[in-house]
Amino acid sequence: MSLYRLIYSSQATSDLQPQDLKDILEISVKNNTADGITGLLCYGNGQFLQVLEGDCGQVNETYHRIVGDKRHHSCRLIECLPIKTRDFEVWSMQAITLNDLSTDQVKNLILKYSGFPVLRPESMAPEQCLSFLLDIAKVYQLSDNFFIDL
Ligand code: FAD
Repeated sequence: MSLYRLIYSSQATSDLQPQDLKDILEISVKNNTADGITGLLCYGNGQFLQVLEGDCGQVNETYHRIVGDKRHHSCRLIECLPIKTRDFEVWSMQAITLNDLSTDQVKNLILKYSGFPVLRPESMAPEQCLSFLLDIAKVYQLSDNFFIDL
């Protein structure tokens, strides 16, 4: 097995509802558990930023399924690299919504890794995307409440 990490960003459709995010998380947990995939999905400012880790073939298959999903568009592959170990092994998938209600800690993290106060993955380099996802995971691992209304 060859372990890979894939990071991409995309633009949510304008009519995305909180229920859509819950549906995405539910199917992701189910499929990813079966496929040995782990990762994190961030949503904010109408943008998704997701990391997937797992077997190269499974990551590839999952990403291609995701790209075809009508709930978002303009998928941009940020990186796809072999890795030695997983960083998000505690989550088959977790969804974090970053919006106006986010705490100062979250706002500061967004600012730390980009030139903007809101999530704009296209303005972040691949290593900034990964560092942001790792830091945000640390913040939310301490909290039980991942969902904030869109
Ligand atoms: P089916 O349920 O058979 O659906 C067939 C097609 O319809 C697929 O193209 C599907 O994408 C699309 N679709 C399904 N429901 C809706 C809906 N409510 N509105 C519009 N189109 C719909 N899946 C994972 O397994 N793992 C992940 O980590 C993961 N992350 C995702 C991240 C994002 C940002 C998005 C938008 C989706 C994600 N998904 C993920 C969901 C994925 O795109 C598929 O919907 C899911 O894997 C089921 O695939 P399927 O072919 O069995 O779909």
